[in-house]
Amino acid sequence: AKRDGRNAYRFFTSEMQAQSARALLLENALRRALERGQLSLHYQPLFALEGSGESHVVGAEALLRWRHPELGWVSPAEFIPIAEASGLILPIGEWVLQEALSQLRRWDEAGLPALSMAVNLSAVQFRHDDLPALVERTLADVGMPAERLELELTEGAAMDNPSVAITVMNKLHGRGVRLSIDDFGTGYSSLAYLKKFRVSKLKIDQSFVRDLTDDAEDRAIVDAVIRMASALGLQTLAEGVETEGQLAFLRRQGCQAVQGYLFSRPLPAEAFAEFVLSRTT
Ligand code: C2E
Ligand code: CA
Ligand code: CA
Ligand code: CA
Repeated sequence: AKRDGRNAYRFFTSEMQAQSARALLLENALRRALERGQLSLHYQPLFALEGSGESHVVGAEALLRWRHPELGWVSPAEFIPIAEASGLILPIGEWVLQEALSQLRRWDEAGLPALSMAVNLSAVQFRHDDLPALVERTLADVGMPAERLELELTEGAAMDNPSVAITVMNKLHGRGVRLSIDDFGTGYSSLAYLKKFRVSKLKIDQSFVRDLTDDAEDRAIVDAVIRMASALGLQTLAEGVETEGQLAFLRRQGCQAVQGYLFSRPLPAEAFAEFVLSRTT
């Protein structure tokens, strides 16, 4: 038994070593990814639902992509945490903001309707003192009104330090930028904070949307979130909508917006523009 234990221990450590070796490799590669042009953005359309059963594209969510010449595509789920832990998320996040807003401008120039651009913020960026000034500078640089930008902050990041969150939210709100709470329902925000947070939208996490058609509890949760949001004057957007059944339920309960594979996967900028133009003409 003792020998087994030692083998198990050895196996465990070599597993851990392999994991941290990969993390180290990625961190080093990520350090040069920006300057080497390996990062790009894909854009997923956001749809407003109308009573008539129609839906139309009202915005895009910018999603970071990393393609390394040897490692191939690395998932954001893997590299974002590494970027956060190493501080690399600050320069990368700055680039994302600049690139997403510049793209929005190019779409304007190409004749797309005036969409909004949703950009994900990491808790590290949100806590950084320079954020409100950076956002203002970037908007001015690109020549984009603040109202076109929506910053997404996860519920966990907002609740990490609610009083700091409130201060930063007030500053951003004062500059005219809208904020959404991302992955709503996976954190632990209290109703008291929701009232104080300067947010305009709750993005219902896809884990509640996934089993909507066969899970009565998920239906009850989503229904409660939509009603509560509406009572607080907040908009709701459901993420990860993949089926007509999910869409029908969300529409019936009064969810205002959706995104998901049912409509479109995240797309490169050109394909996004084609997608929007093909639906509006
Ligand atoms: P998120 O912000 O919750 O983004 C939604 C994720 O769900 C995206 O994964 C998107 O591709 C995926 N998705 C969209 N529709 C569907 C659907 O119908 N079904 C399913 N199963 N998935 C769907 P992605 O692009 O892999 O991004 C993962 C996470 O990485 C994001 O989750 C976000 O937290 C983070 N992330 C991505 N880009 C950035 C960024 O620029 N900055 C920061 N800080 N985080 C980012
Ligand atoms: Ca998001
Ligand atoms: Ca989300
Ligand atoms: Ca998520």
